[in-house]
Formats: sequence, C-alpha cells, structure tokens
Amino acid sequence: MTNPMPRGLRLLTAFCRLTGLHRTLCPLLGGMGLILVLHRVLPPSPGPRIMANARIEITPGFLEQLILFFRGRGYDIVSLDQVHDRICRGSSETPFVCFTFDDGYADALEVIHPVFRRQQAPFAVYLITGFPDRLLIPWWYMLEDLVLRQDPVCFTWQGREFCYPCSGADQREQAYAAIRQLILATPAGELDGCLEAIFAGTGIRAGDYDRLMLTWDMVRRMAADPLVTVGAHTVHHFNLRELPPDMVRREILASRQVIEEHIGGPVRHFAYPFGSPAEVGRREVEIAGQCGFATCTMVKEGTIVAGHRDHLAALPRVEVTGRYQDLTLVDLRRCGVLSLLRNGPQRVVTL
Ligand SMILES: [Zn+2]
Repeated sequence: MTNPMPRGLRLLTAFCRLTGLHRTLCPLLGGMGLILVLHRVLPPSPGPRIMANARIEITPGFLEQLILFFRGRGYDIVSLDQVHDRICRGSSETPFVCFTFDDGYADALEVIHPVFRRQQAPFAVYLITGFPDRLLIPWWYMLEDLVLRQDPVCFTWQGREFCYPCSGADQREQAYAAIRQLILATPAGELDGCLEAIFAGTGIRAGDYDRLMLTWDMVRRMAADPLVTVGAHTVHHFNLRELPPDMVRREILASRQVIEEHIGGPVRHFAYPFGSPAEVGRREVEIAGQCGFATCTMVKEGTIVAGHRDHLAALPRVEVTGRYQDLTLVDLRRCGVLSLLRNGPQRVVTL
C-alpha cells in the first residue's frame, strides 16, 4: 500500500528523477554508507488498511528491488558487525548498506530470510523479546481489524464511554488514532484491563494474532544462519524516556540476556524502541552505552561517516516505509539529501 507523497517531497523526487542532480551530492554527503530500518515484508493485502500499520510493511518485490538497487550502485551489503568494523577503521573502500528489521515479526523468517539467503546477503533483526515470550499483545493489528470491521466502535473504560464512527476511511483512521492514543497513554499495569474493555465481545482475540510474532524456535533457526544477526530491542518496547533509569537498564539488559540464552551466542547490537528523539535522549544513550554493545542505533535520517566512531551508541538509521515504496526517494536518502534537508549541514548525525 502506497500513499501519495506530500507535495514538496513529490516535486523533489520528480526533479531529482529527471535531472539526477542529487547524485552530485553523493560523494559529499553519502558518507561511508547507511543503515536502513525496516519492519515487515509482506505481499500487499487487498482490502482497506490503516496507515499506521501499512506504513511498516513493504512488499517482497520492493525488498528485492532495494537489494538490487544498492548492488547496482556498487554498495556492499554488510552485517552490523561489519558496520562497526568499518566505522572503527574510519574508512570504507566501497560504500555499504546494512539492512535491519525491527521488532521480530514472523515474516522475518518466512519472507525476509529467504530473500536474503537467495541474495547471499546479511541482515539483522532487532528483537523485542516480549514477542517470542508472548508478553506483548499485538493490539495495533487487533485494533486495525476492529475499526475496519465494526461501525461504530464503542466501549466503556474507567467509567467513561467511548464511541467512534467508522463508516469511511477517514473516520476509521481517526478512530484508530484516538484509541491507539488511549492505549499508549495507559500505564503498563492497567493495559490488560484497557484491552479487555476495547475488545471484549468483538470476536477479536489476542491469541489469533500470536502468529504475527516470531517464536523462539524461529529465532534460533534464523540465528543459526551466519547471514543473520539478532540484536536486542528491549523486552516490552516501552518509550525509554518515560521510564526510571533502573528500568531502562533492565529493559535493555534483560532483552540481551534472554536472546543470548536462546541463541547460545553473544548479542552485540541494540536498537532503541521507536528510536526517534521523542523516545531517545542523552540519558538513554548514556545507559545503553554503558551496557557494552558494539553499536546502538536510532531512527534518524543520516548517513554513516568516520566521525560516528565517537557515537557508536547513537547511530542514525534511515527508515524505509511502506508509505512510499519509491527508489528515487531511497536514492535521495543514500546521497544524504534528505539528511541535509532535515538536519542541516551537520555530517555526524547523532542524537
Ligand atoms: Zn521497534
């Protein structure tokens, strides 16, 4: 599912597609390479969707195109260990791209792994251990089905009545956004009660959504392949900025430990949940930095340069979403043009 781009971005990509002008900036702004952040890879679904979920999904065809796109431009597809080595060396004879997939959806094994095996290229999965440990309920997909199937969506929570009309695409998006906000604002201890209030009697059951998430057996099967790196991504995927420091440390270390126990090897890489400045600040970088990872990555537009040697706990990653599956846009990111627009002339994009 793709969406029309905002006008400015559409004009910029059309201009660059026509002129190729952005490529003149590549040697200047492209740095040594870049780390991509993706989530899910799935065949396009035929029915209506909610954008918040559709945006984290790209098609297998587009993933293959991405791999060929970077190979066609002389990029090495590298693992996170190799990213670390190249940053520490401070140089890279050929540019690199590193593919990372966040959270640990089942399609990492079912769809993504076969693509990378066929291409003989490495990739990484940053795993929320609450997925295979079944500590998390994928309510964001349950909620999508609810607003798509039911009109209106009404429930009572903490003595308040909520009712949202869901008869058209706009109303469904609004209902989804409002209920999502309510769930995200609910303290962890009350979450089960909140979800029960929303989904009771709707026929939408959490157990039916377990299949979306990797199991430990699937994680082990992937980790046995040298092409696959499993990184840590906390236990619960909380916004770390909102937690006390001892809980931030516990979320990070517990996820690493449980993955290491299951795969029988070290976990050297970490990605901050959500990963934008709204969820990652100096304190979080300091704590993660003390945990002894080789790299910690955020979600922020920026290419990798030698100066990142001093910022290994806050590396930028460029997000490729299902919203715009467009190779010219990827080319603008590869050449650092979007980073220039978002971050100004700063080369070492970090916190
Ligand atoms: Zn995540």
